[in-house]
Amino acid sequence: MKPILFYDDIFLEHDTGHHPENAERLVSIREHLKKQGLWENVRTGPRAATEQEIGANHEARYIAHCRKVAAGGGGMLDPDTVVSPRSYDAAVHAAGALLDAVDAVMGGKVESAVCLVRPPGHHALPAQGMGFCLFNNVAIAAHYLKQKYNLKKIAIVDWDVHHGNGTQDAFYRDPAVLFFSIHRYPFYPGTGAATETGEGEGKGATINKPVPYGISRAEYVSIFEDVLNGPVKEFGPEFVLISAGFDAHVNDPIAGLSLEDEDFGALTRIVKQVAEGTCGGKIVATLEGGYGLGDLPKCVAAHITSLGS
Ligand SMILES: [Zn+2]
Repeated sequence: MKPILFYDDIFLEHDTGHHPENAERLVSIREHLKKQGLWENVRTGPRAATEQEIGANHEARYIAHCRKVAAGGGGMLDPDTVVSPRSYDAAVHAAGALLDAVDAVMGGKVESAVCLVRPPGHHALPAQGMGFCLFNNVAIAAHYLKQKYNLKKIAIVDWDVHHGNGTQDAFYRDPAVLFFSIHRYPFYPGTGAATETGEGEGKGATINKPVPYGISRAEYVSIFEDVLNGPVKEFGPEFVLISAGFDAHVNDPIAGLSLEDEDFGALTRIVKQVAEGTCGGKIVATLEGGYGLGDLPKCVAAHITSLGS
């Protein structure tokens, strides 16, 4: 079954100026997918996530701060993270797209969905935006799955080249959410050592695989596969969320490891096989990083094609 794609022009209105995380990323993805015949199953007009839904992961005063900065004409949340006048609205709809995607998959209308949204989310902490991220879209979706659908086992797979520190932080003590991140290390944001495995009841439900710059494609995929077919499968997720960043591509201009376009298809197949075994293939993926305007769209196409095959 082909995945539904969630996209809206509102995500282009988050205006970062001269910045690697810019609207051209989504435009290049959209145009490439159209050319490839992969733009049929698109849903636009996502709802806005409510303050309560965002508040499941973020402090109320931080949400209010983001809204105020945007309403005041914009500013910076940290040296990398721009807020423009329309950023708050884009961000609440980005989170809302994931919630719509979760509802579509949980409602059985579709097996999987891919959210082509920005701003991205996986670095956003409860009370602090960072690393181009305002609200942690994937974490908000995991809270929503717990609260609305009463799920007890949710897996978040994060293959963005950077460690998903915000997502890890959100669920570090939570045994209901297994967080697995594979990332370049040492690298931004500095977290994600293999020794970070969760705390309290959440001990063991955080899995970090830091990998060095220079690792081969085959080694990378093999490490990924071992975690998916080992601890993730054993966890038995009822739903799988993917923080799909594509900045581990060999040519990524701000990061990069050794991966080629088709490797993102391979990673997707591995996740899909596990999800099919444990939860009928329920997957919602969301765009995180990936900054090469030539390569990013091809990586996304490989991901979507693999999810739908
Ligand atoms: Zn990244």
